[in-house]
Amino acid sequence: MHHESKLPNVKTTIFSVMSGLANKHRAINLSQGFPDFDSDQTLIDLVSKAMNSGYNHYAPMHGNLELREAIAKKFELLYNTSYHPENEITVTAGATQAIFTIITTFIKPNDEVIIFKPAYDSYEPNVELNGGKVVPIQLKVANNFKVDWEEVSRNINSQTKMIIINSPHNPTGIIFSKEDMLQLESLTKNTDIIVLSDEVYEHMIYDGETHHSACLFPDLKSRSFVVASFCKTFHNTGWRIGYCCAPKVLMQEFIKVHQFNVFCIHHPTQKGIADYMQEPKHYLELSGFYQKKRNLFLNLIKDSGFKFIPSKGTYFQVLDYSDITKEYDVDFAKRLTVELGIASIPMSVFNCNNIDNKVLRFCFAKTDDTLQKAARILNRI
Ligand code: GLN
Repeated sequence: MHHESKLPNVKTTIFSVMSGLANKHRAINLSQGFPDFDSDQTLIDLVSKAMNSGYNHYAPMHGNLELREAIAKKFELLYNTSYHPENEITVTAGATQAIFTIITTFIKPNDEVIIFKPAYDSYEPNVELNGGKVVPIQLKVANNFKVDWEEVSRNINSQTKMIIINSPHNPTGIIFSKEDMLQLESLTKNTDIIVLSDEVYEHMIYDGETHHSACLFPDLKSRSFVVASFCKTFHNTGWRIGYCCAPKVLMQEFIKVHQFNVFCIHHPTQKGIADYMQEPKHYLELSGFYQKKRNLFLNLIKDSGFKFIPSKGTYFQVLDYSDITKEYDVDFAKRLTVELGIASIPMSVFNCNNIDNKVLRFCFAKTDDTLQKAARILNRI
């Protein structure tokens, strides 16, 4: 049987490749982004309780109402802005499904979508599947990945349908400043461009910085989807639960696709998280928690051969190995896994033309013990 692939150039995601290799060689896995510790027992108990109290049938399509109300409350508390629980918030099967569904809802053949590279690896195939054209803008390591808004402006034209941003940024750990967001707001003013703002690491932000959500800028908010994740925030990446928020006119289109994509997602988990979110400290304490881990990790490897700029957000730290070897980053990451027992993510896979800047991404969402073991290996290299 012959069939033409819809994604001829797509290979297995690097996250599965590196985690697979780490498992095979029993390496310490700082590659794929997930914690090696458990979610809070209180949350697990709340989800079990929901399952034992009858939350086992379909939730409403937009999601369990109590959860949507809890999400709306969070936006009021943190960003002093409102999304209506009834028609401006939808709970999704992870941020990944939210992103897929947003792109599928709005992107038609030949629509252009601006993305910033290095980019999270799901954006491009999602656009291509819908016949859209990716317009990549490469952020430069020499500028510490700062966006050149003039360059963005030059790439906007009548075909531009969407701009995807991601702050705190995976894989670099940079964050967008208020100035960045204002630039984006002014560039998209009076256009029909939709902004997809991937904010899954919003609760992991360090050194006293603040997260400048797209919802904080009224004109930008009117054209944006804000995408968020419970899996990242509550240490349970396998639960596949996230959500997105947008003004009603955008959300009503989103839901047309969402209903035939997943209809709704796992109900007891939604109820459990709704109860858990009644305590804002469960997400407010996350930055402090992860900043300690980042500091521990960087302190342990400060005399190693790796160079770094401390991550400002996310639970990823980029390490520059150019003083150690000239090897291609994919080869080096694989060799570190197979021969030295530590797995990371080579960054070239996220860049335009796979530019190799000799940097690797390490996930520090790990127990202190794991970070110490990892550092012992990194210090020997
Ligand atoms: N978001 C995770 C990361 O960046 C990976 C998610 C996945 O493997 N699909 O590591």
